[in-house]
Amino acid sequence: MSPPEFQLHIAIVGAGLGGLAAAISIAQSGHRVTILEQAPELGEVGAGIQIPPNSSRILKRLGILSKVEALSVRPHEFVLRSYRDGKVLSTQPLLPYCEERYGAPYLHIHRADYHRVLVNEARRLGVAIQLNAKVTGIDFEKPEIKLADGSTLAADLVIGADGLKSVCREQLLGKKDPPKLTGDLAYRVTIPASAMLQHPSLLPLIENPAVNFWLGPSSHCVGYLLKREGGEGIYNMVLACPDNLPELVNTAKADLQEMRDFFSGWDENLRLLLGLVDDTSKWRLMNSEELASWAHPSGKFVLLGDACHATLPYLASGAAMAVEDGYLLGRLLSKIPRSAPPPAFLLPDILTIYETVRKPRTTRVVKQSSHYQQIFHMHDGPLQRERDRQLLRYQQEPYAGYPNKWRDPVFREWLWGYDAEQEVETAWAVYRSGRFPLTMGGRWESEREVVGSAVGSMIMSRL
Ligand SMILES: Cc1cc2nc3c(=O)[nH]c(=O)nc-3n(C[C@H](O)[C@H](O)[C@H](O)COP(=O)(O)OP(=O)(O)OC[C@H]3O[C@@H](n4cnc5c(N)ncnc54)[C@H](O)[C@@H]3O)c2cc1C
Repeated sequence: MSPPEFQLHIAIVGAGLGGLAAAISIAQSGHRVTILEQAPELGEVGAGIQIPPNSSRILKRLGILSKVEALSVRPHEFVLRSYRDGKVLSTQPLLPYCEERYGAPYLHIHRADYHRVLVNEARRLGVAIQLNAKVTGIDFEKPEIKLADGSTLAADLVIGADGLKSVCREQLLGKKDPPKLTGDLAYRVTIPASAMLQHPSLLPLIENPAVNFWLGPSSHCVGYLLKREGGEGIYNMVLACPDNLPELVNTAKADLQEMRDFFSGWDENLRLLLGLVDDTSKWRLMNSEELASWAHPSGKFVLLGDACHATLPYLASGAAMAVEDGYLLGRLLSKIPRSAPPPAFLLPDILTIYETVRKPRTTRVVKQSSHYQQIFHMHDGPLQRERDRQLLRYQQEPYAGYPNKWRDPVFREWLWGYDAEQEVETAWAVYRSGRFPLTMGGRWESEREVVGSAVGSMIMSRL
């Protein structure tokens, strides 16, 4: 009889999209996973979420893309419009562009559906999910998690995936660290597609699904279609505008008239859509500053997702970054030999590799999302006119720095062309060659250029 394989026990705090992606990837790597979730039941807040190709490629590798796709809408394109009259300023094709270029689709899905697919897959792989499990403290050296009910859970590694208002991050920093205000809030609304069918000018939003953006002063709106399992379509909208929530109130039921008044001078179709809404809420949009480190020096604790890089949602990439983190961490943990307990240095090294490759990318997403706030929210005037002129003039020859970042040939490749699997293999090759100084930091990007192309060909030849 062959000896039983060695397994690490990994505890994840938080069953959000990031924590679940990590759980699936780690379970597939052969380790035992327990998730601690504070909520009494599993679910996701909010309606829609966009899944860009860098993230859907990971779902493919995790073996769950077909389940997610079955519940998703495939938008044809991104459309940036002027707020006044809906005039199209710039587009970016998505279908079949993303499949052809990145080998993975761009998708829209209801968050509850996405979350359910991940939960089912995690459970199928044997991940234990404990509900009503509010984490209040962490002993980083053991490591051991303390829960609100007084119980504790010991593990070999603890992953803090507890979102924007992360207890894990505050424990790591040893101080309060509330999320940062961005000056914006978002109204979130949904409209039944059946109600839109009564209005001929809204039909294209259903018949030709796209991600529509209306850019206006201090604000912008995003809308896209979702489908529910067995149900009718719904149009999901996020309307970003200046934050007027009272101090310390981060979400609140909102007044429909206040929302409609704010957008009263906007495109007729947008106003028509808002006229069909019968309920709305306001969400303060917050983000975070780059942390000095995501890991504890013990080498037994690390953060992922919004807990360490919360972002404005303007690039629609926050969850995609959390999923990339989780996948990558799981794949790195698969490098631990299963024949015996790993040498003491290996787990801390893996956490260092993870942080080194992930931090520059997520920091750039957070910064570029904030930059988009400035581009999207220009007031009428010379800057806005120049932005619109460039969007229109260079739509066919976009350049690095083009104001539509999804059409910027350099940024788009960087954002959507990311192959988390190749990143892992490149990092591992660098580590194995002894060239992974544990303080590599910003030099990772250049190191990856050198080693990455060779590893890329190796991965391609395996496909
Ligand atoms: C309006 C809006 C639109 C967005 N649109 C997109 C989009 O289109 N595409 C995209 O990629 N991203 C989008 N995002 C960002 C995305 O929602 C987040 O980045 C993502 O959900 C973060 O996932 P996470 O798992 O890191 O954290 P979370 O989803 O916040 O999950 C954290 C989990 O931890 C649990 N938890 C918290 N504290 C504790 C504790 N002490 N003990 C135990 N459990 C705890 C929580 O209950 C929760 O389940 C959007 C965000 C907003 C606000």
